[in-house]
Amino acid sequence: MKTPTGSHLWDRREFIATAVAGAAVLAGTVAGFSGIARAGAIARAEAPPFKLPELPYPETGLEPYISSRTLSFHYGKHHQAYLDSTNRLVKGTTDLAGLPLEEVVKRSSGLKDKSIFNNSAQAWNHAFYWKCMKPKGGGTPVGKLSESLSSAFGSFDRFREAFSLAAATQFGSGWAWLVLDGNSFKVMNTANADTPLAEGKKPLLTIDVWEHAYYLDYQNRRADYIKAFLDQLVNWDFVSENLSKG
Ligand code: MN
Repeated sequence: MKTPTGSHLWDRREFIATAVAGAAVLAGTVAGFSGIARAGAIARAEAPPFKLPELPYPETGLEPYISSRTLSFHYGKHHQAYLDSTNRLVKGTTDLAGLPLEEVVKRSSGLKDKSIFNNSAQAWNHAFYWKCMKPKGGGTPVGKLSESLSSAFGSFDRFREAFSLAAATQFGSGWAWLVLDGNSFKVMNTANADTPLAEGKKPLLTIDVWEHAYYLDYQNRRADYIKAFLDQLVNWDFVSENLSKG
């Protein structure tokens, strides 16, 4: 079987083959194959060398709010580069090599040399961000999530204002988040590659506000991108799933 090289996007047939092989590795039936890709929306085995996870929609799927041109660069180039750098840097370590991506992020956050953290956290953040969106998403959540946000922020609109403000006021590159901090819902932002994972908080939703996320489509109008994200793209089902996970 041909396995992805990690330096190119692979085609759909290759991905399916890799995902099936990944499931076999999980079952312990195939030795020596470490290219586990994320299979479907549920399995989330991320072992090194880290591969680009499949986008949950086609590159045209978020148009007209996020163009396929933005996604082709953002997913195919930026995200891939963070993964490639993570693979290269982690390989040379004794304590991080072989760990799942989330562990690499957590354990590298305190290191003086930030290069592993910056790249692995960006790899993790982007994989999470893609899942926070879907075609025909946006609007308001339902059920337990809706009740939780209303009770934590006063109303859904108050949550929306807080999240929009965090995203709009992040100075320079970074991310805005809805997280669970213990039992409390919080809106926060992080600069550059930083991630709530590193602080032991549980990410529920994020928006990437690095310029590369929106500049081709919105130029300097970050507020319009944030509005489109909330009104048209948020995948509230994914946020609910994150909330219900232990
Ligand atoms: Mn980005």
